[in-house]
Amino acid sequence: MPSTRAEVSDIAISPDHYIGGKRVSSTTTFEVRSPLDWDWKLADVARGDALTADQAVTAAVDAFPGWSAKTPDERATYLHRLADLIDENTDDIAIVECADMAMLLESLQARVVHRGAENFRNYADLSTQYEPRTWSSKGTRNTVHRMPAGPAVIITPWNAPWILNSWKMAPALAAGNPVILKPAEWSPLSASLLADLAEEAGFPPGVLNVVQGIGEEVGAALVSDRRVRRISFTGSPEAARHIGVAAARNIVPFTAELGGKGPLIVFADSDLDAAAKKAALQFDDAGQVCLAGTRLLVEDSISAEFLDLFNTYTDKHVLGDSRNPSTTISPLIHPDHLKRVHGFVERARENGDEVLRGGDVHKEGALWYEPTLIAPKDNYSEVVQREVFGPVLTFQTFKDEQEAIALANSTEYGLSGIVYTGSEDRANRVGQAIRAGTVWVNTWLVRDLTAPFGGCRISGIGREGGDYALDFHSDLQTLQISEGTTD
Ligand code: NAD
Repeated sequence: MPSTRAEVSDIAISPDHYIGGKRVSSTTTFEVRSPLDWDWKLADVARGDALTADQAVTAAVDAFPGWSAKTPDERATYLHRLADLIDENTDDIAIVECADMAMLLESLQARVVHRGAENFRNYADLSTQYEPRTWSSKGTRNTVHRMPAGPAVIITPWNAPWILNSWKMAPALAAGNPVILKPAEWSPLSASLLADLAEEAGFPPGVLNVVQGIGEEVGAALVSDRRVRRISFTGSPEAARHIGVAAARNIVPFTAELGGKGPLIVFADSDLDAAAKKAALQFDDAGQVCLAGTRLLVEDSISAEFLDLFNTYTDKHVLGDSRNPSTTISPLIHPDHLKRVHGFVERARENGDEVLRGGDVHKEGALWYEPTLIAPKDNYSEVVQREVFGPVLTFQTFKDEQEAIALANSTEYGLSGIVYTGSEDRANRVGQAIRAGTVWVNTWLVRDLTAPFGGCRISGIGREGGDYALDFHSDLQTLQISEGTTD
């Protein structure tokens, strides 16, 4: 029996799973509260278990023959319909996502929700444009086909659920794989709205399933199921290690988009004002952004001037309610996360690192954290080497290009990097020397959905984006037909 819908600002949200085209409840639930006001309980959400995982995978397995037999054009029709429905429901989705994880309402309404629609459109179009590679060799005609791989499990983190759920589900669906989405337990609500829209778009039962619950419980059961043929994960390296073991046991291809500790390098020849402005924007979304340039690396000769500019821009930030258009820094997602972030700063102080600004909770009893800048004692400080995932940046200086590159590459991470320079030669030289999946020069967060996306070292395995994700969700087959033996 479906549970009563929860309401967020009059928008009805099912707290249940969505499996095989039906709402399915669980006997136990977990509580979801709003980071905007921790006294605001949003919902009691179904807490899936091994049985739930089994039901969801069975539904996806049952849907696979029908969905994979459709042509890319037929599947694209469903994805386009879903994208249109997303655009029509932008406000509701934005309000729910804002209440659930505190992303700024204005940016959700203006860009973020629409980007989810674009993810579905992009993959609908790309999948229909695929031209199998064909060539002749050794008396045979070779053709490379994409075969849908089978049910895909998608597991996402709490920091950008709407964007990441759509980014990861769209290529799987377009490639012909039914999906089971397990969103994060700290921000599970927009995934439920997505299931409603999929139903309205007419997706056949079992093609798009959403399972709610705790990672170590229903998440672990999903990734261990031998019938699952692809696992696409975004989250922390710690969880990726567990999921990778499950994938290895079942010999299932697995992509992992993981944490970051990106450098933001500022050379003396750059537009300093633009660089400082961008550096202050690394506090956006309260620093809960995997692609943030959290290590400011600034050339010695301009470091004092840069710091002045950076402080001027950082002073303009407004910590406040994410529904208020003047707010630029939202609260952190959860009291446990606030404690974790503050723990990094306290340990940095104990280590002898210098807190240059911020360094404390903004208001007792609420979840805002001050924009914080720390000058580490040396490059081994924990706050330099580990992802904080909050509004905490470090500040270090360098004397030349070689030292800048060495510092940039001195952590275990390799998701992204940012470089500010006025020289095109240096842009290419330094950009390519940074060991990271994405490097921006004189800009940040500009993304082309067809470009490969992923991390090096502990920031990830594999690449998603564009054709890379469609290939990942397919089994590539080389069909060789002996020439002159068929009509
Ligand atoms: P997390 O790893 O704790 O959780 C992510 C998801 O994995 C959640 O849905 C969780 O329930 C699930 N999970 C946890 N353990 C599991 C297990 N054993 N089996 C199956 N599922 C399990 O990460 P988080 O705290 O939700 O998110 C923050 C992390 O995500 C940060 O490290 C951040 O950098 C990273 N991130 C990376 C990207 C990227 O594109 N590279 C984007 C956003 C966030």
